[in-house]
Amino acid sequence: MYKFDPQIIRVGISGCLIGQKVRFDGGHKRSDFCTNQLAKHVELVPLCPEMAIGLGTPRPSIRLVGQGSEGEEVIAQTAKGDDVTEALRDYGKKMAAQFSGLSGYVLCAKSPSCGMERVRVYHESGKGNAKVGVGIYTAELMKALPLLPLEEDGRLNDDILRENFVTRIFALHDWQCLCHEGLTSGGLIAFHSRYKYLLMAHHRDSYQALGKLLADLSSDVEAKAEAYIAGLMSALAKPVTRKEHTNVLQHLQGYFKRDLHSRQRQELAHTIHQYRDGMLPLLAPITLLRHYLNEFPNDYLQQQVYLNPHPEALRLRYGI
Ligand code: SF4
Repeated sequence: MYKFDPQIIRVGISGCLIGQKVRFDGGHKRSDFCTNQLAKHVELVPLCPEMAIGLGTPRPSIRLVGQGSEGEEVIAQTAKGDDVTEALRDYGKKMAAQFSGLSGYVLCAKSPSCGMERVRVYHESGKGNAKVGVGIYTAELMKALPLLPLEEDGRLNDDILRENFVTRIFALHDWQCLCHEGLTSGGLIAFHSRYKYLLMAHHRDSYQALGKLLADLSSDVEAKAEAYIAGLMSALAKPVTRKEHTNVLQHLQGYFKRDLHSRQRQELAHTIHQYRDGMLPLLAPITLLRHYLNEFPNDYLQQQVYLNPHPEALRLRYGI
């Protein structure tokens, strides 16, 4: 059972991605980012569903079989024709029931067990295939744990998707800490306040809608909290464009208009424009804003998750 622990951020991962030799051919697909960088900040929980259902390694490869249309029920078949669908499904259900303490999950792309999307489904007639499937194990995780941020190893090579995924892991952990302490109306309002600019960057309408949801917490706090976190995680899943970051940076710039002298104001505005035009990474204006925040402290800004959504050592804002 992977219980929640506020001191540890636990992230599930397909076993082959941390270098375990559990693939059908006896190999692995070690992810450099997960093992060398992410693992320094979270505890990775590796699992191989195919090994767990007793298939062993090396083993005949598995494939999904169906009609090839999106959203259909498919089966997972070994090269020998054995149907392992139920075994994988049952294992997915069993593990999902133990995963309430996880804050994210990294999955091996294209796998008929672990793949998150676009897994090949072979037509039952034996002719052709279509990339429309979801791995059988992962489909169960998605059903049971809709809030859990999921991402595939290949997609983590994209700077924007990588930063987005890690942001969501830390946000969900933050929320799990709040629930662990005991949910209160005040805690919920304070949480929303800290996420103001991060939410505005990801999805401005969600910031307003979630604010309205929390406007009256005189009743149904638990139900509202559930709707709130579902809305927050869904908004954060949307990657942020340079234009949207620029808009938030300009809002933050406004907090310093009385403190900075004209040359400093121009420098900050110029840095934001250079970021908007693709000449500088997001880290540049954020660093300058943090510098001014140190000089001119502001409690409201200092608590904004937007300025520190994940550990700086991960260098996630260098490439976006
Ligand atoms: S993709 Fe999943 S099932 Fe396949 S080897 Fe990796 S962990 Fe095991």
